[in-house]
Amino acid sequence: MDKAMCNWTDYDGINSLPVGEYLWRVSHQHLDSVVVQFRDKVRLRGHGHGDRVASPKFDYWDGYRVHLPDGLQYRSVDRNDPAVTVEGIDLLTCPFCGEPVMWAFHAGFIGAAPHQRGSFEIKHCFADVQRDDPRKAAELWNTRT
Ligand SMILES: [Zn+2]
Repeated sequence: MDKAMCNWTDYDGINSLPVGEYLWRVSHQHLDSVVVQFRDKVRLRGHGHGDRVASPKFDYWDGYRVHLPDGLQYRSVDRNDPAVTVEGIDLLTCPFCGEPVMWAFHAGFIGAAPHQRGSFEIKHCFADVQRDDPRKAAELWNTRT
């Protein structure tokens, strides 16, 4: 197992992490067996009355409490960590220049994180694929004729 896969910590709730950027790992909410990793911040937020709390930017406040996805994990972010990764999917290098490529995520609603609604894009030189399901995007990207 890759070293980076071994050091995840289960996220145990508001105020458990200092404000800052982390790498998050969580199952996609709508796509079975898709697990994403992405960079995002813990910031202070209001939660009704009382002091502000430290919570990930992609949390959801329903007016009573802060919600976060089940099974959320995190680790400290490394400068080499890409913005978004889809676990278990390897992408071929760019067909034009041969450089490694990275995922981009386009939020499907304001503030959506990669485990929520949105689309996944792989783009380099003249090649560009974008799909809501990253497995479909990768299938198209990895097809070479
Ligand atoms: Zn390229």
